[in-house]
Amino acid sequence: MADNAKPTAAAPARRKTGRHRGEGQWAKGHLTPLNPNEQTKKDDDGLNVRTRIETIYSRQGFDSIDGADLRGRMRWWGLYTQRKPGIDGGKTAVLEPEELDDKYFMLRVRIDGGRLTTRQLRVVGEISEEFGRGTADITDRQNVQYHWIRIEDMPEIWRRLEEVGLSTTEACGDTPRVILGSPVAGIAEDEIVDGTPAIDEIHRRVVGNPAFSNLPRKFKSAISGSPLLDVAHEINDVAFVGVDHPEHGPGFDVWVGGGLSTNPKIGVRLGAWVGVDEVPDVFEGVIGIFRDYGYRRLRTRARIKFLVADWGAERFREVLEEEYLGRKLADGPAPEAPVQQWRDHVGVHRQKDGRYYVGFAPRVGRVDGATLTKIADLAEAHGSGRVRTTAEQKMIVLDVPEEQVASLSEELGALGLTTTPSPFRRGTMACTGIEFCKLAIVETKGRGQSLIEELERRMPDFDQPVTININGCPNSCARIQVADIGLKGQLMLDENGEQVEGYQVHLGGSLGLEPGFGRKVRGLKVTAAALPDYVERVLHNFQQQRTDGERFAQ
Ligand code: SF4
Repeated sequence: MADNAKPTAAAPARRKTGRHRGEGQWAKGHLTPLNPNEQTKKDDDGLNVRTRIETIYSRQGFDSIDGADLRGRMRWWGLYTQRKPGIDGGKTAVLEPEELDDKYFMLRVRIDGGRLTTRQLRVVGEISEEFGRGTADITDRQNVQYHWIRIEDMPEIWRRLEEVGLSTTEACGDTPRVILGSPVAGIAEDEIVDGTPAIDEIHRRVVGNPAFSNLPRKFKSAISGSPLLDVAHEINDVAFVGVDHPEHGPGFDVWVGGGLSTNPKIGVRLGAWVGVDEVPDVFEGVIGIFRDYGYRRLRTRARIKFLVADWGAERFREVLEEEYLGRKLADGPAPEAPVQQWRDHVGVHRQKDGRYYVGFAPRVGRVDGATLTKIADLAEAHGSGRVRTTAEQKMIVLDVPEEQVASLSEELGALGLTTTPSPFRRGTMACTGIEFCKLAIVETKGRGQSLIEELERRMPDFDQPVTININGCPNSCARIQVADIGLKGQLMLDENGEQVEGYQVHLGGSLGLEPGFGRKVRGLKVTAAALPDYVERVLHNFQQQRTDGERFAQ
């Protein structure tokens, strides 16, 4: 570490000024925003919409909301209008946005690191019941997502969340989104390093800070010191992955430029090792590069992955070190291959303090407010005060004494939240879909749940890890490109020539140390009605043809 002295937490990342940066924020002359989204951000910082919600919109109702706030700045506080019920997928692309808008909102609560106390979980559950018609989905970014939220209720919802230390700040929008963290940080026996202090410090410095509230697009991040690689680091804008450096000890390997959606890219390693106390500075440097050099001309090329692809890892690291950190980073090793394929922490596991954590599997992340409240009650009744959400749409109760484990598992099972799920239940993930999402073309959550049930009935002996990810449109909120079986929603014609819901199939994608995208087999589409038959056939073929130890994606 001699030539890489660690900065103190208080030392801000340094940045040279006065240099032309990338495509910049504005068009020539620095007067004309590059597109309508940039115009909205230039006109007013998204963070400022909160005051208008509290003082005007919540009092005067939905119709008083300014259009640019409604479809733009509201996101800075986790609010999106949800899809008007009864509009089918064929209308998604042809209707104007306002024709798809319901007068209710989706609201996302950010849960950095997936960490919740039972008191917080109870409040999350109560808000769902009181203001969200009971809806509460666990997302694959460890958040909780409500639907049916009225603008009139937002001040009270914020008051309740903030009273217990939760927020919706920058849960959506062109902002630093929730920071993913290992859901077993600080407790797992096999942990390489605990990233929690870094998550807390980054949150303190960055979230709600106007210096980082106008980014070219969303900025996704992940920090995990678990050897299971449990935060999908490969597909985040910046990620810190636990490694043991032969000289410097436990720390993190830095990845940048991952992301899915319509131009999927796996992140690249910078080849740099950072200690846990260096992570906030490096995070600030990377997000600073994105803000200053990121492409803003086209929304479709605005994620940091395009900048990283153009620059390459070497130049990116050079700019980070020279312009933002003012020092060199130590070189470091790559993470080691995980010893198991499931990364979700489902089941019963011993903690390093001798107690246990108990992971369980809702179906495709779907729970409800009443169930969340019951989980909080159950956890407390079994000696725990903490729960976690995972990046696989699962949940974990921490700190359970050994003698309470069996009873807790049984009572979770009685709520339909098994700790011993089938591979189908464990490995199936679904995005929001047409029920609430304005971009959706097809249904996802309900179909995912019925697919799980059908496969459990048809293939009770199947015991291989398998991931089946279902998206309602070409975006990739449920990571279809990196699933064993990825299903991208689209409309198609059935055998009678009728337009029906269906899916484009991607096969053999994976995360891990050798991540890759599934093959999009030309013309391989399946109707929703034929989905169980199709997936069963694929899994049967795999079972018959696989060689020992071969995993699905190979
Ligand atoms: Fe909506 Fe498409 Fe994302 Fe699903 S993948 S939540 S349908 S934008």
